[in-house]
Parts: sequence; structure tokens; C-alpha cells
Amino acid sequence: MSAQNILVTGGFGFIGTHLTERLVADPNNHIHIVDNLSTSSIDLEAYLGFLGKPKNLTYSICSVEHFHRKIASEPDFHQIYHLASVVGPVGVLSHAGKIALQIVNDTDRVAQIALRTGARIVDVSTSEVYGGGRDGYCSERDFKVIQPNITVRLEYAVGKLAAEISLINMARIKPLNVSIVRPFNVAGPRQSGQGGFVLPRFITQALAGEPITVYNDGRMIRAFTHIRDIVEGIILVMTRGANGEVYNIGNPSNKISIIELAERVIRLTRSNSNISHVDPKMLFGPLFEEANDKYPDADRAIHDLGWHPAYGIDEIILDSCEYIKSKRRD
Ligand code: UDP
Repeated sequence: MSAQNILVTGGFGFIGTHLTERLVADPNNHIHIVDNLSTSSIDLEAYLGFLGKPKNLTYSICSVEHFHRKIASEPDFHQIYHLASVVGPVGVLSHAGKIALQIVNDTDRVAQIALRTGARIVDVSTSEVYGGGRDGYCSERDFKVIQPNITVRLEYAVGKLAAEISLINMARIKPLNVSIVRPFNVAGPRQSGQGGFVLPRFITQALAGEPITVYNDGRMIRAFTHIRDIVEGIILVMTRGANGEVYNIGNPSNKISIIELAERVIRLTRSNSNISHVDPKMLFGPLFEEANDKYPDADRAIHDLGWHPAYGIDEIILDSCEYIKSKRRD
């Protein structure tokens, strides 16, 4: 395969580090990361050391906006993975009012870079664009998120959806080649509880013997998907995805309620923790909002791209647990 210059925005985030790890392993690839480290929880030096300081990896610590302005001197890119974004049900709260603007602006900058360099874009969007689908079942053919209740979470979802729509429409009238990924509840090693994500929170609580904070009645439904399966899916969308098409990347077999997830974490970590039902607004303030139930129809990715999610829920919990334990030993 010929050499590929690849731009990864948000390459130092949770998904980005795993994607980068996969991409740098191919010496034909040259990866350039753009990340302002605003929501990344990694120790950059340690991560680069872990990768072996590969020669085919360079990076700019700056915003997408800044990178776009100085790109004249950058090489032509063949592929762009656009991951840079604020993230997490708690992480987004402090950006209220600017989230949609930021997402749409950054995505437009990425589109401009792609138009200038001829790169194909994979835009990593979110399963939040579904307003819960049909009792949580979300197909790419379903209606999207718009609901009367205006929340910070809605701003994130609508911003992501607007970015998707802009890219797809632009590809209809300009020489732009783009596919969209909608990941469902990504989890696994290197995910931090910082953005509010449930699995690292539950595991950290279980390992400390602290109460597991299940929000409200815990009957919310999610489908957790291992970060390695997500990365495989994202790469397949880049290499095999159709221009202007959207792909759910989420493992429907891992559909589980949050209360069951809490019980499973307690069992697999052999923890003495109890479950404590709490109101998340008491923890994070009135802006915190629950999402509707969601689990994917993944048929399009499975049949059209040959995506085969391999990791079950127990492996996701155990892999995450190993990582969190190793961090505690640091
Ligand atoms: N959740 C919970 N306790 C926590 C953190 C999250 O019960 O300490 C719930 C949350 O309300 C949601 C689910 O777990 O129903 C998944 O939350 P996460 O933030 O990981 O993802 P999202 O809500 O964005 O799907």
C-alpha cells in the first residue's frame, strides 16, 4: 500500500490514542495529531514513550482552528479522522452555550483542510444524535434527537448532528469524500471517569470499596463497546465506507441496564461495595441531564463493512479494571 499521510484531530483523547496506536503500527502511515489536550487525561510523555516515540508520528498541540490557519506549510493529507470535541455528560457542562458552535466550527475547518488537500474524512460523531430511537433501539434510518426539553446535552447532540449534515451536504456539491461514525458507549483501557463516564466510575468505586453510584433507578439501557472494536470500526469506515454514508459502531450484544452493569462490576472485581441510588443533579448540578436509552442497529457496519465486534461486556469490564488498577499502582 502506498504511503498515507493521516491527520487525526483529537488524537490524544481516549479513542484517539487507541486509533493512533493502530495507525502508527503501519510504517506506510505518517500520522499527524492535532490536539489541544483540553479534555485529554493522558500523560503525553508516558504515552509517547509507550508507543516507542515512533518516527511516523508528529503532533501539534493546538486547536483545530489554529491548525487550520497555519496549515499552508503542512503536507497533503490522504485521510482525516476528526475526533476533536468536548465530550462526556459532565465534561460538556462547563462549555454550555458554546458547544454546538465549537463542534460545527471545528468540523468546518476540517472540511476546508480536506478540500485543500484532497483527504477523505471520517467524522466521529455520537450516538447522542438519536433521541432514544424506538425504546432505545437506534438505526441509521431513524429520526434524530430534537426534543422540546432544552439541555446542555441537547446542544452537544444537535451540534454533532449539524456537523454531520453539513459535511454530507458539502460532499454533494464539492469534491469532498466523507463518512460518519456514530459510536455507542465506548469503554475500555485509558477511559477516565473525568467526563462522567459510567464504567471507570463504577470500577474505581468498586476497587475502593465505596458505594457504586447508580443514578436514579438504574434502569437506563446502554450497549457498551470495547475501544478496540470501536477503533476497528472507525478504520473500516475509512477504508470501506461509502461517501456521504453514516455508520453506527456499537455492539448490540452488549445491551445492559446500568443496575445490571453495577452488579456485574461488583461481581467481577470481587468488591464489597454496595449499590447506592443517587440523583446525579445532586452531584453535578441542575444542568446534568440523563440521555434516553440507546443501543445500536449495527447491521450496516456488519454487513456493508465486515465489522465484527469481538468483546463482550465482561471483557470490557476486566480490561478497564486492569487499566485502572495499573494507574493506582503508578
Ligand atoms: N451513570 C450512573 N452512575 C454513574 C455514572 C453514570 O448510573 O456514576 C449512568 C448514566 O446516568 C447513564 C449511563 O450510566 O444512564 C451511562 O452513562 P455515561 O455517562 O457513561 O454515558 P451516556 O449517558 O452518555 O450514554
